[in-house]
Amino acid sequence: MLEALHFPEAFRELVMECVTTPKFYIMINGVMRGFFSSARGLRQGDPISLFLFVLCMEYLSRILNEMGELQQFNYHPRCKDIRLTHMCFADDLVMCCKGEYASVYLLLRAFKLFSSSTGLQANVSKSAIYTCGMNVRERQRIVDVSGFSHQHLPFKYLGVPICAKRISNTQCEVLIEKMTARIRLWSSRNLSYTARTQLVQSVLLSIHQYWAQIFVLPQQVLKKITQICRDFLWSGQYFTLKSGYIAWEKVCTPKNEGGLGFRDVTKWNIACMVRKVYDTLVGEHPKVHWAGIIWNRLSLPKHRFISWLAFQERLQTTSRLAAMGITNQDNCLLCAMQKEDHYHLFFQCPYSKGCLQAFKEWLSITTSTTDLKLLIRWIQRSRKSKFQKNVMYAGITGLIYKIWQSRNKVFWEMCAPNIDASCKQLKNIVKPRVRVVLP
Ligand SMILES: [Zn+2]
Repeated sequence: MLEALHFPEAFRELVMECVTTPKFYIMINGVMRGFFSSARGLRQGDPISLFLFVLCMEYLSRILNEMGELQQFNYHPRCKDIRLTHMCFADDLVMCCKGEYASVYLLLRAFKLFSSSTGLQANVSKSAIYTCGMNVRERQRIVDVSGFSHQHLPFKYLGVPICAKRISNTQCEVLIEKMTARIRLWSSRNLSYTARTQLVQSVLLSIHQYWAQIFVLPQQVLKKITQICRDFLWSGQYFTLKSGYIAWEKVCTPKNEGGLGFRDVTKWNIACMVRKVYDTLVGEHPKVHWAGIIWNRLSLPKHRFISWLAFQERLQTTSRLAAMGITNQDNCLLCAMQKEDHYHLFFQCPYSKGCLQAFKEWLSITTSTTDLKLLIRWIQRSRKSKFQKNVMYAGITGLIYKIWQSRNKVFWEMCAPNIDASCKQLKNIVKPRVRVVLP
């Protein structure tokens, strides 16, 4: 497998050396006495076994992804859009597909391929099948072919119950039980208020926080959690009839408002869910490499906007206008020699090249490239200080602005651009800006 993933040979040999030759030493009364070799290779808990396991699971992921492409395979209706076939966290594996024999059979076959090539087997007694809306005969066929037992939701995954409906009071009992078990452990000790405050903050509320990010917890459960935290704070037990010295609402306000800065569990739960809705609505988009260049604090707002357009190749260059049928010539307005597109303007055009050269000399940039992307990469990888880089980025946005401005001047005022004058103007804008923004 290491070979197929193109790991270097020397590295593979080292790994195999570790896997095939472990020895166990026996320690008697603090003295090492003899050793024996391991017949079955690495043991669980060995530092390297984790990483090898991750590699194995990568192989499973690839098999399952490949299988998902097959025409006979149907995704679970809710997983179709993101093409989800499986989730795995360490050795906890959930596989899902449409509730039909053919798709389940493909899943099992893919898993069998994985098992036979890696030697990793599923533990039958710890595995189960969960179905919904399937007829009994079809379900029985699946149970027979897989050898797993059929069970009902909810099941536990990463410590929380997974169910199809809203989580119920009884399912939350585990959460309550977890909290009370912790307190029972602590209650034998005589803890100070400070210690209890710390424990409520860092242990009890963080158990709740984990659940609150996943579920909308029932009101009754939230009330119970509040009660447990309150009782523990004031009495050191998880239940007391004693009333607190300060109202819980007050305790849950920030420290500068007179509270202890605890989280209000109900509000926190709502906040988590709102966040989830927000994330779903907004969605995630790939990050761009140029954001830090344009929006760095040394660059001027008017430079930022033009650069923002330039980086996305959306300036209205003559070649863009010609492509849209607005003009019929696409020659560069500055040099009239080549097509005026973003690549030419930044910085292949003789005028741009001249400006760039002067710019490089000014900020001692030693790369010979005339490509905007390569220039940025050079700066990012250079061993300049963060401040020096920011000045360079501000300079680049200014340079882009200046070139675009000169190009527009040719269009409107028919005046020929002058490299020296342009560079002088650029310096006169960037220098004071840096001085003003400097702390
Ligand atoms: Zn040109």
